[in-house]
Amino acid sequence: MSFFQVNDRCNGCLACVQNCPASALDYEDQNNRRTLQHNMSLCARCGQCWRVCPQQAIEFQHFLKSAWDEVVTLDLVRCGVCGEPLYTVPFKQTVTERRKTEADPFCPKHRREVDALVRAHFRPGPGFEER
Ligand code: SF4
Ligand code: SF4
Repeated sequence: MSFFQVNDRCNGCLACVQNCPASALDYEDQNNRRTLQHNMSLCARCGQCWRVCPQQAIEFQHFLKSAWDEVVTLDLVRCGVCGEPLYTVPFKQTVTERRKTEADPFCPKHRREVDALVRAHFRPGPGFEER
């Protein structure tokens, strides 16, 4: 969806194109039709087009909302004890492939507790020297 949107009052006068300080607006006349064009990567969101439009045709509010567009949504892996989000499922798959072993999902706090429990229950037998 374009951030630059006009309502049906736009008559193609090009005042917005001629007054855009960032050259973010352009137009193309082709096959008896005029098309307004807007380039968001150039646009400074200054509002000049909105101010000069004699038709009050520019819906400037679209420049202001959707400041954060969602790019991708991925499933989360959570700590097996407290449920704190840790990392994404695809990230876990990447790490598992690289390390060729699957890590148990625990947050740092519960990782320490689980490690301490494991150490307490699996003490080394006689002859084992801890390094
Ligand atoms: S200044 Fe307004 S009416 Fe003129 S082309 Fe731009 S949006 Fe349309
Ligand atoms: S907001 Fe400013 S920079 Fe963006 S198109 Fe309008 S006049 Fe150009």
